[in-house]
Parts: sequence; structure tokens; C-alpha cells
Amino acid sequence: MISALRNLSTFNFRKVNYSEWRQAFLAQIKQRHCLLCDGNHQESHGICKPCLADLPWLIWSCQLCGIQLPADTGTAVCGQCLRHPPLFDYCQGLFHYDFPIREVITSFKFRNKIWFARPLGELLADRILQHYHQLPDHILVPPLHKQRLRERGFNQALEIGRIVSRRTGIPLAHKALVKTRPTAHQSGLTAGQRAKNLRGSFEVRESFAHRHVLLIDDILTTGHTAQEIARVLKKAGADRVDVFCVARTPPPA
Ligand SMILES: [Zn+2]
Ligand SMILES: [Zn+2]
Repeated sequence: MISALRNLSTFNFRKVNYSEWRQAFLAQIKQRHCLLCDGNHQESHGICKPCLADLPWLIWSCQLCGIQLPADTGTAVCGQCLRHPPLFDYCQGLFHYDFPIREVITSFKFRNKIWFARPLGELLADRILQHYHQLPDHILVPPLHKQRLRERGFNQALEIGRIVSRRTGIPLAHKALVKTRPTAHQSGLTAGQRAKNLRGSFEVRESFAHRHVLLIDDILTTGHTAQEIARVLKKAGADRVDVFCVARTPPPA
């Protein structure tokens, strides 16, 4: 797996050409070469079973914020969430933000390896289908950032959301939530300053009355952005906001 990941480090600053990446992905799939180890695979998303088993799956996590919990405690909610529950109602990350998921997400986001949307989206979709019995009022919302969209030519959360939508049948509200202004870097700020920094940076473009929102993203770090989004969506009428992310980082030390 490590040697194949070295191939991912080729920088590619060109804007995304969708037919080009689709062709590259299809060629890879057709040859049945795993996207991670280049070995044979039989999976529709392109990652072989041994590589899947090696991924840093997040097994036991807080139901409210998604951070890892020790498996033997039997608790479902962490101490922090018991004291201060987040504004979103549920959070599930598929993986620890660790090798090789960290490298996959970096390649996907910053090196235009957009075909990684497919395995990440399909694995997230499978988790969503396992979690809900029915999906009557559910809607997928990827947070969009206009500036990033302009810089990279694509939005990673939207690309993952498209795959999730196709596999689950949940509609994708791809223009409903937009980040309207860039925000200062969050590191070094207190929790209160972070909330203030993000306040008013997202805008909702349609009603979410009685909707059950599934917020889709690649990484959840502090959770402050998801908090602000949940606040805005609930103000727009959402009954519930659940967060599904590919990777969850550990809480800050
Ligand atoms: Zn493999
Ligand atoms: Zn928690």
C-alpha cells in the first residue's frame, strides 16, 4: 500500500477535467487494480478487501461528537458532550484521520485525485444505510465554500455527497448551504472566539422545514463549523442535523 501511495504525491495543479478523471477511474476499475495497493480487486468502489481491512476504522465513538471512546466503557456519549452537547444531534466518522486515509484525503483535496470520491462516498453511503431504517425526510447537505470551489475547481464534500446520494437515493441539496465569506484560521482561538469567527459565515438558500439533514464532509476536526451549520439549518426549520464524515480527528490535546 505504501509504495502505491507514493504515486499519489504527483502534484497536479490543473483544474479538474471530469471526463478525464472518470476515464482514469474507469480504466483503473476495468483493470481491476486497487486504488491503494495496485493489486487485484473485485469491489465496485475500487479498494481491495485486504486494503479495506487495513484501513483505520473508527469502531467505538461518541454518538454526539464522533470522537473515539474506549471500547470497554460501554458509554455512548463522551464527558464533554454530557456537559455541553453539540447543536447537531448525531455524529459518525468512518475512520481515524490516520494513514492511509490522511494521505487519500490530502490527495483527493489538494492534488485533484478526484476518483477517491467514489470509495469514500460508497463506504459512507453503506454506513448511512446501516444506520437508518427509513429515509423519508432525509436530505444530504455538503457545506460549500465558493472560494475553495474557485481555487480547486471542485468541492470534496459535494463530490462525496453525489456518490452518497446515488447509492442511498437521498436527495442532495447541493446549492442549499453556502459559505459566503472566508473565515480567519481557527487555531489559537478560544471556543468562544471560534464560534464568533464562524457566526454568519454560512447562508441557507432554501427552507429546511421538517427535514432530517445529513451533513456530509470529508473531515471533522473541532466540530465548530458543523456546530455553526447545525445552528443555521435548525433556524431554517430542520428537525435534526446528523453529521457523517469520512474521517474524525482526535480531540485537541
Ligand atoms: Zn488494495
Ligand atoms: Zn462527544
